[in-house]
Amino acid sequence: MKRIITATALVAVGLLAAATIAATEAQAAPKTGVTKAPFGKLSDGTAVDIYTLRNAKGMTAKIMTYGALLTELHAPDRSGKMGDVVLGFNNLAAYEKGYPYFGATVGRVGNRIAKGKFTLNGKPYTLKINNGPNHLHGGLKGFDKRVWKATPLRRVGGPAVQFTYVSADGEEGYPGKLSVKVVYTLTNENALRIDYTATTDKATPVNLTNHSYFNLAGKGDVTKYVATFNASRYTPVDDTLIPTGEIAPVAGTIMDFTKPTAIGAHIAEAGSSEPHGYDHNYVKDGGSKFGPAATVHDPATGRTVVMYTDEPGFQFYTGNFLDGTLTGKNGVVYNKWNAFCLEAQHYPDSVNQTKFPSVILRPGQTYRQRTEYRFSAK
Ligand code: BGC
Repeated sequence: MKRIITATALVAVGLLAAATIAATEAQAAPKTGVTKAPFGKLSDGTAVDIYTLRNAKGMTAKIMTYGALLTELHAPDRSGKMGDVVLGFNNLAAYEKGYPYFGATVGRVGNRIAKGKFTLNGKPYTLKINNGPNHLHGGLKGFDKRVWKATPLRRVGGPAVQFTYVSADGEEGYPGKLSVKVVYTLTNENALRIDYTATTDKATPVNLTNHSYFNLAGKGDVTKYVATFNASRYTPVDDTLIPTGEIAPVAGTIMDFTKPTAIGAHIAEAGSSEPHGYDHNYVKDGGSKFGPAATVHDPATGRTVVMYTDEPGFQFYTGNFLDGTLTGKNGVVYNKWNAFCLEAQHYPDSVNQTKFPSVILRPGQTYRQRTEYRFSAK
């Protein structure tokens, strides 16, 4: 009996020692992979989870099930120091109170649809209006305000989480039941990759995007950042930010970022009224071929992000409507021009523009998009 007890005790001590070693190692070098934690409850009681992805180089991304939304993204500066490079809040209540799409998955149709109206297969549709006279980013309760289902995935290239959402026929005025899947992968090469797929049971417009607001220094003005766009054309807009239908060259205008240019060089002249700044769709050179669309570099921290996408365009938005009324993570107050968004997408109001690439998805087809934000520092 005694021998048995001694043996059991030894095994227990051994396990304890092993556990202590494991814990020490975990502290020294946190494991790569995916962890899940509760992020809070919405006012209707729905529980929201947050997933942390950590890659082999120590970069981390946090994505929650509300809005399939990127809340944090920590990338290295030129000395290797990690810093959070996206705007957001540290609690769910702040998101539920209202936020300008920080980090969210936007749909069913990102960007604007004139007067919320379009005709498909001869049938007129009217969507919810939520932006002056227009429909913006999926309407009053778009994909950014829905709770998605999440599943961690095993991927060779880095930790990944899949989010799914089924948008009902008629939701926000859109036809067809749309099943959407969004997979975030934090690759071991320091890219945040977002893969989207969607299928429908009736023809419907689909234009998904991620609405992260980047600030490569964590706070402050982005006007000294240097931007280079692989886009020699853009889509001019009217006063309500609806495209005129023209596809115009950027050459010789304040829209030209084909060569490295400070975001602030002409920002005060951009846009037809206050608050000035960029809020425009660029036409990517190379169309729907996966490739680099935009590079933004912060000379102070050395951080650089390059967006690769197979979308034919992207909205470049400089946080013009941030007006100091929102305070985000770490007590940072968000003011005008404190962030830039690179929203990979089809052009705005494509449903009403015959010359723009189509956003219509039909039964039997699969919508696909891949967009990557690749981080480096120099
Ligand atoms: C739009 C802006 C809008 C912002 C936040 C951008 O995609 O183009 O006009 O203010 O999203 O809603």
